[in-house]
Amino acid sequence: MLWIGIWTAGVLLTGAAAIATAQTAPPKLIDVHEHFDGEPGVLQQMLIKLQAADGIGILLVTQKGFPEASKFIHEHPDRFIGFGDIKLDDPNALQEIDQFHQAGFRGLGEITSSEKNYDDPSYWPIYDRAAKYHMILLFHTGIVLRRDPDQPENVSFDRMRATRLDLIARHWPKMIVIGAHLGNPDYAEAAEIARWSPNLYFDLSGSSLIKMSGDYGFFRSIFWWSGMVSPHTPPGGPDAFEKLVFGSDIFQGELGEFDAGQRRYHEMLDACRVPQNVQDMIFSGTMWRILQEQQQAAGLRR
Ligand SMILES: [Zn+2]
Repeated sequence: MLWIGIWTAGVLLTGAAAIATAQTAPPKLIDVHEHFDGEPGVLQQMLIKLQAADGIGILLVTQKGFPEASKFIHEHPDRFIGFGDIKLDDPNALQEIDQFHQAGFRGLGEITSSEKNYDDPSYWPIYDRAAKYHMILLFHTGIVLRRDPDQPENVSFDRMRATRLDLIARHWPKMIVIGAHLGNPDYAEAAEIARWSPNLYFDLSGSSLIKMSGDYGFFRSIFWWSGMVSPHTPPGGPDAFEKLVFGSDIFQGELGEFDAGQRRYHEMLDACRVPQNVQDMIFSGTMWRILQEQQQAAGLRR
């Protein structure tokens, strides 16, 4: 029950209206994947990094981190956007979504470690509620860490496969869905479902760009369809690599991945000869457009 008190304080503090991005020009960087669990002093360090990079950080905020994060986001609306970290199996999930929305949060995530498959119909009321608020969803996809190998846990990679996002993206066609980690290691399946769903994107945070560092050209075989014309793919479509958005997956206050993740993305994209204008979309342009469209759809105040 403690968190309800915290929530109430947070909502009162931040006001009940949704907040819009204060920035009017696209930033150089939008990082869709920055965890915050109330680690002391971390938000200030993130702010410094984002200011230096001309970036916006999407903060994935737990209940523990909520009071501090919601205040900080409202103080720095040109640098931070809040996403609510909910659990699909939490019986209070719908109420939490309402409360995150009331506090101006614009998405949910990182959704992970569910007891059923992500696309299980029992979770559909959660996605309906998120869609009602025009929220963006960030899902963990692929293999997942074992925090304490001595403890039994009800977690399986199989429930979090990237392919579990295919039905969700199709069933809620206006909802933007981001899969973290490009389905590691099922990159090909992740990219192929994103190819057919204009509302589905992936980030490449995690170990994949470390694992593949000796063979970055491999990703040309994953994002293969740039400029390809076929009966179902008319000319003029976006570059295949534009299914990627930037995510650093910084967590537990360790900010090193903010810079290291950007460096690895750049090295991979350069190795794949991805044009600069497409790289600009990956690092900022695509998410900027999505956030602008969300702002219009939700009628968020400026
Ligand atoms: Zn993850």
